Amino acid sequence: MTMKNPQLIKIIAQFSIYLEENNLRKTTERIMILEEIYSRNDHFDAEELYMDFQNRNQLISRATIYNTLDLLSDSGFIRRNQFGTNKTRYEKASNFRQHDHLICLDCNKISEFCDPRLQQIQQTVSSIMEFEIQSHDLLLFGKCRKENCENKKIKQN
Ligand SMILES: [Zn+2]
Ligand SMILES: [Zn+2]
Repeated sequence: MTMKNPQLIKIIAQFSIYLEENNLRKTTERIMILEEIYSRNDHFDAEELYMDFQNRNQLISRATIYNTLDLLSDSGFIRRNQFGTNKTRYEKASNFRQHDHLICLDCNKISEFCDPRLQQIQQTVSSIMEFEIQSHDLLLFGKCRKENCENKKIKQN
């Protein structure tokens, strides 16, 4: 048994409470998926997550992966984003600093930034528009300045 960090223990506890309150079963698979997501820092899709379990011989069915991802996003434990494509990507959400994303249109790299001024804009807009904002989704599209940015000079026919 490996040592789990305190943040992970807390998240598992919160998720367990959520499952219990909603009369959902606390299965090993659900907890394994939550742990995996909270041990990574990327923006992954369901298929990548499925393959990572496969590659470690931890056999979790595709259906379980998809269902659990839905469950985790509906309950707010993970954040879901399309990043301007039709592919849904996920990342951990709880206890995680608020951030927004930059997406390179050439290499598809997703970077994160955090600017507290967005919070102020939100508050101002909220009071002017008399609108209670629950979340926001800001995606900045462009071109990264990486030397080795893939597809940079390739023109599509
Ligand atoms: Zn790039
Ligand atoms: Zn992110």
